[in-house]
Amino acid sequence: MADGIELRRATALVAAARRGVAFTGAGVSAESGIQTFRGQDGLWKRHDPYRTASLQHFLRDPSVYWAVSRERWPGFQRARPNPAHLALAELELAGHLAAVVTQNTDGLHREAGSRRVIELHGTGGTVRCLDCGTSEPRADVQARLDREMPPRCPACGGRRMKPTVVFFGEGLPSGAIEEAFELAGACDLMLVVGSTLVVYPAADVPRVAVQHGAPLVVLNDEPTPMDGRATVVLRGRAGELLPSLASSVLRA
Ligand code: NAD
Ligand code: ZN
Repeated sequence: MADGIELRRATALVAAARRGVAFTGAGVSAESGIQTFRGQDGLWKRHDPYRTASLQHFLRDPSVYWAVSRERWPGFQRARPNPAHLALAELELAGHLAAVVTQNTDGLHREAGSRRVIELHGTGGTVRCLDCGTSEPRADVQARLDREMPPRCPACGGRRMKPTVVFFGEGLPSGAIEEAFELAGACDLMLVVGSTLVVYPAADVPRVAVQHGAPLVVLNDEPTPMDGRATVVLRGRAGELLPSLASSVLRA
């Protein structure tokens, strides 16, 4: 758990920031009950990531993805923003953060009140037919998985219904990645929360900020490859450390 000195140093950096950027990964939503992929209890300990979520395998057999999704969906549906999401929204409102750049697809930053959210890996709430382009809310597709596996497109009957998230082997939405790099190049603080920083090209976003001279704060419950370049490393749970950080910034 991060000690008081580190928290004070992070507080000073965040308090001084006027166009900081938060970069978040699955760890920020772990305390909302959404399992991470990597990390100690990650989903990839039980499922092969490429068989589950690569475009190549999905096109061959979408039911592998949808079987995992059936298991995960109740947790996703129940998930609400946790104190870490709320703290980031407060820091934006107080003028310290310009934006949240997230790898997550759960929509929880927006639900917590963050206004400028860049979703690098798309959004998990919608499903689109790869054959005819028809879109459907995810909840509707999930609701018929018990009798329809893989799910069929209600318009064309095709069996290639894919969530609007970025799979392995797919490019990132170009507008989002451009905006993220622009923000990173101009920020005066990069605050990484709950990311292994090993998923590319997303993990280049904090690197660009550091190359442009921004101080880096890394908050994660395990070491990351960028810790050596961080001004401050806060080791612990996002839902505990971020609210402490935000309240000491707002008092400062
Ligand atoms: P990641 O790079 O997003 O890393 C998650 C990191 O968070 C790990 O190092 C883990 O140890 C750490 N962590 C877990 N709980 C934490 C907590 N309470 N406080 C602080 N740190 C914590 O890696 P991933 O999980 O492999 O995800 C890969 C990709 O899939 C990313 O794009 C990720 O955003 C996406 N994903 C999204 C969701 C979601 O939308 N909620 C869930 C799983 C994965
Ligand atoms: Zn269709």
